[in-house]
Amino acid sequence: MPLVPLRILLDHAAENDYAVVALNVNNMEQIQAIMEAAQETDSPVVVQASRGARKYSNDAYLRHLMLAAVELNPNLPIVMHLDHGNGPATCMSAIDQNFSSVMMDGSLLDDGKTPADYEYNVKVTKEVVDAAHAVGVSVEGELGALGGIEDGHGAGLSQEEAMTYLTDPDQAEQFVADTGVDALAVAIGTSHGAYKFSKKPTGDVLKMDLIEEIHRRLPNTHIVMHGSSSVPQELQDIINQYGGEIPQTYGVPVEQIQRGIKNGVRKVNVDTDNRLAMTGAIRKVFCDKLGEYDPRKYLGPAREAMKKVCVARMTAFGQAGHAGNIKIKTCKKMVDFYKK
Ligand SMILES: [Zn+2]
Repeated sequence: MPLVPLRILLDHAAENDYAVVALNVNNMEQIQAIMEAAQETDSPVVVQASRGARKYSNDAYLRHLMLAAVELNPNLPIVMHLDHGNGPATCMSAIDQNFSSVMMDGSLLDDGKTPADYEYNVKVTKEVVDAAHAVGVSVEGELGALGGIEDGHGAGLSQEEAMTYLTDPDQAEQFVADTGVDALAVAIGTSHGAYKFSKKPTGDVLKMDLIEEIHRRLPNTHIVMHGSSSVPQELQDIINQYGGEIPQTYGVPVEQIQRGIKNGVRKVNVDTDNRLAMTGAIRKVFCDKLGEYDPRKYLGPAREAMKKVCVARMTAFGQAGHAGNIKIKTCKKMVDFYKK
């Protein structure tokens, strides 16, 4: 089957009380790890690429790798999503490159760094919604700004500063009405990257109650959690055991994400955990086998380590077992859906 719009997966997830993990990629092994995990767990798939990833791997490589994933996994619904588009032009170029879903992040100006005002956010997001829906492509928007920085994207806000840019539930209601987005990314205290929290997060820094309030007001809007790697201790330990120096850090506990899933969270972005897993596996080979020089001998274990993380999240978020149950619509078919 061809790439499908994100909306199809999120509607099914909402009807069946689960969420899909959205996994960032920029090379072949990462795409293979995700597809193997999805096959093993019978999961629908959301692959996403940021601007940084598109630049690193080149759109043509990404497009053809995703075509290979579709060809080799005809039984799985697969979404290709743009992560943090910084302006309408970036979103439209992604659609030209076969992406079936885009994020227009108008919470920041097009430098991808400076927090924007509400009017700017609505203007650029609405522009993308109109253009994307006309060709059946789904759109994720963002309200409020996250801390941290990833692939050069992000306001670089400290955890403390990020707390002043939390999503306002009143404004969220207005934003969805003003833009017509399919999914809404919210700022609840999480940040991008490995260094999210200095201790296991409590409710005063990880505002899960905010998600409950937004879901109460917008029961039909699919909520997206960004910066939702759990940064497991064992993955930090492997890196440090084999010569790395990752300072002690804490992510978003899986049980908190599961609480979100009970309250309208339908897409959960995970990138750092896979990066940690791959890095740990590569470090281990480099330390254990000093004479090794075949890239397959360390990229293979890295792929396997990432697959394990993907299987764990697909299972924990409830998407496992659902790939075959989703009624597929192509982007072309979605044009009529959006006209209504
Ligand atoms: Zn993000």
